[in-house]
Amino acid sequence: MNKDGRIVKQISNDYWVLADGVSIVCKARGKFRNLDITPLVGDIVTIDYDNQYILNIHERKNELIRPRISNVDTALIVTSVQIPEFSTNLLDKLLTIIEYNSVEPIICITKYDLIDETKKQELTPYFDYYKSIGYELYFNIDENLKDVFKDKITVFAGQSGAGKSTLLNMLDKTLNIKTNEVSKALGRGKHTTRYTELISTCDGLIADTPGFSAVTFEGMTDSDIRDNFIEFNEYRHNCEYKDCMHINEPNCEVKRMVDNDTILQSRYDNYLKFIGKR
Ligand code: ZN
Repeated sequence: MNKDGRIVKQISNDYWVLADGVSIVCKARGKFRNLDITPLVGDIVTIDYDNQYILNIHERKNELIRPRISNVDTALIVTSVQIPEFSTNLLDKLLTIIEYNSVEPIICITKYDLIDETKKQELTPYFDYYKSIGYELYFNIDENLKDVFKDKITVFAGQSGAGKSTLLNMLDKTLNIKTNEVSKALGRGKHTTRYTELISTCDGLIADTPGFSAVTFEGMTDSDIRDNFIEFNEYRHNCEYKDCMHINEPNCEVKRMVDNDTILQSRYDNYLKFIGKR
């Protein structure tokens, strides 16, 4: 009997496939090695249910390199406003890389309750701007965040110390226990093999890895960086040059929008830093 399911965990050549609510350990068939395809956590697969083999990997929506997960829907950027300080540079970097990977970024601002009114007023224009260009943004641990995970595969991104584990434990009280049990059972620690796992929570699946922790523009060209500053795309068709990089070109509409404060100055400055022009 064949069934469709999703790979939620991999250790060596063992794949845990979640099919109809049941997790079955399957092997990958040799044909994948010949085809130079490795099944990935996140893959939708057809399995031979009785013989516990993966027969077929369905087409992937996307494929991340770090962590090695496919079909990721959402990246939740957890970013703090205090210890560590809010950084537009890190946020813009993450947004650009996440957009490039065809994943939807969602921003969660943590420790917002710890800053005073003056600081809040100083940061509000930034937060309003990100909302205005279409990004969903949450403050602190908001119950509504639960809906973000529903029926999705989510990875985390952001600084360490931004409160990712606190956030998860607040949203799902059983999660901490669950992850600890898994870690203990496998003796995960410094000397054991790392593996990737998707954990069920809030009616969705989240990646139990540091997420986009190694943040680099690896594999991205300057044009890729430009194209993933999403608001630039609204204006680029009015630039004089078709392939305008919005640097020194005459009659650049993006630069005009920075000058008249339609595009946030820090977004543009970060863009120039990312493509190495500053
Ligand atoms: Zn331009």
